[in-house]
Amino acid sequence: MQLPPIAATTIGSFPRPGWLASAVRSTVTFNLEGDLLQEGLDDATTLAIRGQELAGLDLVTDGEQRRPHFIDHVLNSMEGVDTVNRVPKGLYRRREEVHQVPRVHGPISRRVPAVVEDLRFAKSRTDRPVKMAVPGPMTVVDSTLDEHYGGDEAAMAMDVAAVLNAELRDLQAAGADVVQIDEPAMTRYHEKVADYGARALDRCIEGITIPTIVHLCYGYPGGKSLQHEYEYPELFPLLLKTNIGGLAVEFARSNYDPAILEPCKERLVLFGAVDPSDTPVPPVDTVVTRVRDALRYLDADKLLLAPDCGLMTVSRELAFAKAKLLADAAAELRRTL
Ligand SMILES: [Zn+2]
Repeated sequence: MQLPPIAATTIGSFPRPGWLASAVRSTVTFNLEGDLLQEGLDDATTLAIRGQELAGLDLVTDGEQRRPHFIDHVLNSMEGVDTVNRVPKGLYRRREEVHQVPRVHGPISRRVPAVVEDLRFAKSRTDRPVKMAVPGPMTVVDSTLDEHYGGDEAAMAMDVAAVLNAELRDLQAAGADVVQIDEPAMTRYHEKVADYGARALDRCIEGITIPTIVHLCYGYPGGKSLQHEYEYPELFPLLLKTNIGGLAVEFARSNYDPAILEPCKERLVLFGAVDPSDTPVPPVDTVVTRVRDALRYLDADKLLLAPDCGLMTVSRELAFAKAKLLADAAAELRRTL
């Protein structure tokens, strides 16, 4: 895979067409069933990819059109997890708040591939490099209720990591150009990253030679407060001890000084430069300035441009306008490198 300097990409998700589904934040309800749903998912994926090409992105995704929820889609491929009969969990994303979550009722293992066919379909629809994402082990632990591991989160995370490693190996074999591990839980539980999260991340990427990226986000926009309460400067040293190839980080919403990225300059940095929420598209100069600031600390060859998080919670028009903004900013930055 050959990417230009300051390659423009996204975190992964895009909004669905209205005829396919309705969505409340990151929870999706499909309007179709059976064969029609399959046809609709294929068509929506084709549209999402074509939209990214038209926007000018260098590294595309399948838009995660098939995923009713970004975690459940992958959990459904695992033994030991029940995503149908959900149970209440009182602490989720470090908030005291009851959520209905999948239950873990037995040892976690791989039942079937999760997104390998999704990748094959996406590859058949584009000549551009394709990135695929899976939820990371800490996020799976945080988003489920354990009824099997007796509270041993590390043991559960390592079983999840073994499943994800098999998935990433299959994605690599099927031609994925970049793989991404989404770990919003890492931004909320630094102490667990040190305990087992970093080790589980390394287990996920054993034998993976294509670029790997961990997405360190604060969740989809529109949630409650507490965004950016936990600090990247504490998190980076823990992750720089791992073999992860790169970090996808939020710098649009967070207002962090890009100087904190300097220790990460040997890795890929997927630099979040646009607010993914329902805010107007900023002028291209705003993004260009933000990235020029970051380029004082990072190499252009290792910097990729993205929104802070997935774009699925906004309108399709706005999502593709923000994608185009990133591509336009990248083109302008390359002209003046
Ligand atoms: Zn995110």
